[in-house]
Amino acid sequence: MYTVYSHEPFTDFTNEENQKEFLEALAVVKKDIGKEYPLVIGGEEITTKDKLVSTNPCDTSEVIGSVSKATPKEIDKAFEAAKAAFPKWSQTSHIARAELLFRAAAIMRRRKHELSATVVKEAGKPWVEADIEVAEGIDFLEYYGRQMIEMKDGKQIESRDGESNQYLYMSAGVAVTIPPWNFSAAIMMGTTVAPLVTGNTVLLKPAEPTPIIAAKFVDIMREAGVPDGVLNFVPGEPHEIGDYLVDHKDTSIITFTGSKATGLRILERAAKVQEGQQHLKRVLAEMGGKDTVVVDEGADVETAVSAIVTGAFNFSGQKCSAGSRAVIHESLYDEISKRVVEETEKLTLGDTENYNNYLGPVINQKAYDKVTSYIKVGKKEGKLLTGDESDDSTGYFIKPTIFGDVKPDARIMKEEIFGPVLALCKSKSYEEAIDIANNTEYGLTGAVISNNVENLEYAKKNFHVGNLYFNRNCTGAIVGYHPFGGFKLSGTDSKAGGPDYLLQYMLPKSISQML
Ligand code: GLU
Repeated sequence: MYTVYSHEPFTDFTNEENQKEFLEALAVVKKDIGKEYPLVIGGEEITTKDKLVSTNPCDTSEVIGSVSKATPKEIDKAFEAAKAAFPKWSQTSHIARAELLFRAAAIMRRRKHELSATVVKEAGKPWVEADIEVAEGIDFLEYYGRQMIEMKDGKQIESRDGESNQYLYMSAGVAVTIPPWNFSAAIMMGTTVAPLVTGNTVLLKPAEPTPIIAAKFVDIMREAGVPDGVLNFVPGEPHEIGDYLVDHKDTSIITFTGSKATGLRILERAAKVQEGQQHLKRVLAEMGGKDTVVVDEGADVETAVSAIVTGAFNFSGQKCSAGSRAVIHESLYDEISKRVVEETEKLTLGDTENYNNYLGPVINQKAYDKVTSYIKVGKKEGKLLTGDESDDSTGYFIKPTIFGDVKPDARIMKEEIFGPVLALCKSKSYEEAIDIANNTEYGLTGAVISNNVENLEYAKKNFHVGNLYFNRNCTGAIVGYHPFGGFKLSGTDSKAGGPDYLLQYMLPKSISQML
């Protein structure tokens, strides 16, 4: 039948042949620059006058493409199409639904570099990370497809003499997918195909800064054979259609990744039963993080340095999993902070079209203003060790910035910055370090660098995060290996890429018949 799931391999860009192929893919993407993409509703392509324009954060004068914009009128039409497609799709065999994902994954593999190159241009992501991200997108399709096949007959329950009991999973209805721009390929794909493969129909509203990769994905799903109305593509302005999508009486599930503020707003609004609504809405929300690397006494210094630098600065810290603070035992604090600064100063910043740039820009002016204002706060709260240089004349570039001797309660220790800013804090004991790591409203990821078995055990019980990593950094969860989602105000802990994830998109049904 199907091979056992294993994650998609990453491209080795030290191989010159691979570099050449990727440059060719970038050229293909550049050839398409300026292209316009329509809405897709009920299989019909709809072009609107008003457009959402996607620009390159490395060079804001470069337009990557534009998409038509849905207003409430088109959203109503999309709900009608999704509702009309639901009865047939929800009763299409689980295997056929899974096979759709496998076919789409195969197309994605054939277009892999082109998709990664689109992420490079549209999100300003470096090659290596864009490649990892598209691999993650493929993984979601392959993993959820297999999960669905495993769940096709429901789960085993007991039957008494004279009865036969069954426990089956039914589809819920229409799902609204609201993905983020920071994993504009992977999370967009994962949160679209999970409701689809479980037999729901979907309205996909891509993140405003990154609609082009989503438009390409919708094309791929159509090429793979997704029936009309099952996947509807409705980009638009959040202030025009965000609440409308959430509030709509026909919404059954909302799957969201983004800021805490928006996530909480969705949870609150979705709780209200609208006129004509005969079900309760479910919300899967993956929100913020303020994630910590804890370094124990006696830890390996270079393991700690690498975990801190990569966790803080990969994709310029624009991950909810970013290790934006490190709490280091006082015995190692001076040595590790010096080495972290040395390694950070080697990181190159610039246009990510150039493979040699390790870091690219932040996503837009709003992010640039927010991060640079936190750097000002940091200068009051800690000792500037490196960075504090920024330039938004062509793109939104901010040098990796590190503050030392930051107190546990400082704002830059507790608030999510979502940029290349790292706070270093000293602890007197391991227990104190774990307490500091738990001192925010978030509980997404964390890392402990330690060789002390008892201390690692202590972290398993007391470090209150959804994804805990030992002797490595705290980003880069892999589908099927590191199910991802956080505690506290980081979200509903839905665990994307995990064995229970699809359950959240289905209604378990218990059937008992007398024999
Ligand atoms: N899954 C990603 C990771 O493990 C983070 C996702 C996010 O930032 O939203 O790093």
